[in-house]
Amino acid sequence: MTGAATILWNEQLRQYDFGPDHPLSPIRVQLAMRLVEDYGLLDHPQVTISADTPILDDATLERVHRPDYVAAVKRASQPDADANAEARYGLGTADTPIFENMHAASARIAGASLTGAREVLEGRARHSVNLSGGLHHAMPDRASGFCVYNDAAVAIAWLLDQGLERVVYIDVDVHHGDGVQAAFWDDPRVMTISIHESPATLFPGTGWPTEIGGPTALGSKVNIALPAGTGDQGWLRGLHAVAPALIESFKPQFIVSQHGCDGHFEDPLASMALSIDGLRMAAEAIHAWSHRYAGGKWLALGGGGYEWVDVVPRAWANVIAIASGEPINPKTEIPDSFREYVKESMGRVAPYRMTDGYEPWPKAWDLGYNPADPVDSAINATRNAVFPYNGLVPDSFGGF
Ligand SMILES: [Zn+2]
Ligand SMILES: [Zn+2]
Repeated sequence: MTGAATILWNEQLRQYDFGPDHPLSPIRVQLAMRLVEDYGLLDHPQVTISADTPILDDATLERVHRPDYVAAVKRASQPDADANAEARYGLGTADTPIFENMHAASARIAGASLTGAREVLEGRARHSVNLSGGLHHAMPDRASGFCVYNDAAVAIAWLLDQGLERVVYIDVDVHHGDGVQAAFWDDPRVMTISIHESPATLFPGTGWPTEIGGPTALGSKVNIALPAGTGDQGWLRGLHAVAPALIESFKPQFIVSQHGCDGHFEDPLASMALSIDGLRMAAEAIHAWSHRYAGGKWLALGGGGYEWVDVVPRAWANVIAIASGEPINPKTEIPDSFREYVKESMGRVAPYRMTDGYEPWPKAWDLGYNPADPVDSAINATRNAVFPYNGLVPDSFGGF
């Protein structure tokens, strides 16, 4: 089924909901799916919507999470749960408040990501997309940063259990993909590559280039930490200066990616300056790398993104369009039906076009770099930290 894409989506995935005042509202995925639908992508014969989103059993979750943590999530999911009783597990905080049926809602998102991985691994789909997933901050033993169960890590652990020996995880969310890194810290079978705003200025305060993996996995954990305010040019330059060389040398059998779009300049929770156009180009690059280096085996996940109307629907419609082999021309107008829906349901004016008007042309690293430039120096720190462990020369092209 070359080219076929499976999109994991059903109304039950909306039950992962921390309440009306929380930034990670299920309206984000709802609006993205609505825009995808209004573009007619779901009518494309290559696109399948799958509602196969099981609530994963404890044993599957516990490949990543500690049993006492899963038990704590279940206790916090009861209707009469004490909001503060599981604080040591990161539950009941302002970031990750408890809600009824939290366990089932969270385990279902992980089930959707696992189904996506399975559809691709078993050849029924070329690519899969779960926009409700990408909950990359969840730790083996605690909830963190709006994330309860780490669906990305659970899907990767499942792939390893099926016998895969090399999986690459790429995380373009503005925050460090700390939970996925932690889950496979000392596992050389998983290379994690996270590009994010520097931990000096942003949650979760990790993701330094010097975090390179445990003693048996040195150089398989990769962190590109860029200064706050970095725009498309520097961000894409960093991604391209680091990721493809490492992926080529690692030879993954499968790529899982997290497409948090909170690096956008309008996002209220972070301070990067990416446009929809830069985010789209990153998704296009990851798609191309999946074909070039992993036989097309690609599971794409959602993630952060807190500008619900201007940013998330366009960023994630692009991810689905790219995975479906039907990329949307950036100059395309947003369908009137979508704009009317947003006006009626949110009382807001939706954007008019799929572009923010940018056409980034990031300078290739092999043309040289400037050690005095803060972005180049951040990129260089990552190359120096991990390239030698992967048989690559960090400074092969020299400065200028
Ligand atoms: Zn493809
Ligand atoms: Zn984020």
